[in-house]
Amino acid sequence: MAVEYEIEHPRKAFGWAARDTSGLLSPFFFSRRKTGEKDVTFKVLYCGICHSDLHKLKNEWSDSIYPLVPGREIVGEVIEVGSKVEKFKVGDKVAVGCLVGSCSSCQNCVNNLENYCRQAIPTYGAKNVDGSITYGGFSDFMVADEHFVVNIPNGLPLDVVAPLLCAGITVYSPLRYFGLDKPDMHLGVVGLGGLGHLAVKFAKALGLKVTVISTSPSKEQEAIQHLGADSFVLSRDQDQMKAAMCTLDGIIDTVSAVHPIIPLIDLLKSHGKLVTVGAPEKPLDLLLPSLIMGRKSIVGSYIGGIQETQEMIDFASEHNVRPEIEVIPMDYVNTAMERLLKADVKYRFVIDIGNTLKPYPSITLE
Ligand code: NAP
Ligand code: ZN
Repeated sequence: MAVEYEIEHPRKAFGWAARDTSGLLSPFFFSRRKTGEKDVTFKVLYCGICHSDLHKLKNEWSDSIYPLVPGREIVGEVIEVGSKVEKFKVGDKVAVGCLVGSCSSCQNCVNNLENYCRQAIPTYGAKNVDGSITYGGFSDFMVADEHFVVNIPNGLPLDVVAPLLCAGITVYSPLRYFGLDKPDMHLGVVGLGGLGHLAVKFAKALGLKVTVISTSPSKEQEAIQHLGADSFVLSRDQDQMKAAMCTLDGIIDTVSAVHPIIPLIDLLKSHGKLVTVGAPEKPLDLLLPSLIMGRKSIVGSYIGGIQETQEMIDFASEHNVRPEIEVIPMDYVNTAMERLLKADVKYRFVIDIGNTLKPYPSITLE
């Protein structure tokens, strides 16, 4: 979809955008609004790369708006706050995740579930209330209502924090909501990528037993020795899958592509829950008896509310949950996307925006 119209804002901004479904990113000049009464304006220092960025760049969900500036794992330093901002001041280290707006009055918003608000405004590639298009964190600075900005606890390295803003909350929220957070439970994590490796880390921090279910034999040793998983099952090995049948209380499925889910359901004990967070662009096959025979459920979960995002970051800070990252310069981003598609990253790319986006920052405060 092409941009229908773009409101020209007073402040010049700079970032990298894709112009079409090739998804190739290149330098892009655009504009952002001035700091409003409730707004926080911050220089972007780091931004993680989520597989959702890749889906969006290539319009795999059929809703992309070009030019598209991705980035929803954004960390930075506040340079200006509006007159009615209460939570932040200049110099604070802050973060923005997948959302920059919601209606604030529906049942979900009132219950701190802005992520399920029907008028929620994604951080990029969406229409803002003023009709302009939102642009994400692959850019020099951001402006966001303080409600959608979270605080970074002292002592957390800023590059390492970035993946928590999307990958972290996406796996933390369902562990809590679906009660898969009790130390006597056994959790399966399918797909050891950005989301998956954090699901392992959060589940271990909560005291669960964790089995990684993966297509990559090369990830076994590290999953166990480094990430702390208790066991590893190669999903393409029938014998290993058979041996793991009916052992899991829950599964977090983070796989980004179409994959068989009936064999995953078979790994659940009776009453077990398969939580899908991965978002392949095509339907998956499901045979209902695999659920019926065991009163099992398949559920979904989408990021998390702002309050829970802060709770998750504070939990990560206290329990030493640290994303594993590969820091890259801005001009490596297209190669990083190719590698992400091949599951060739341990386990999250984070772009060093502050040091490698040129010209940076283009903002002038007047
Ligand atoms: P990622 O880093 O690419 O990890 C995905 C993992 O899935 C890969 O590392 C790989 O793990 C496995 N995989 C990939 N292709 C596969 C295939 N054809 N068959 C089986 N397994 C395959 O991606 P991510 O950033 O973690 O994101 C994962 C998915 O979650 C994406 O679809 C993304 O859009 C979605 N997402 C959803 C939410 C939400 O709110 N629900 C939020 C963020 C992201 P192994 O090598 O271990 O097999
Ligand atoms: Zn709402």
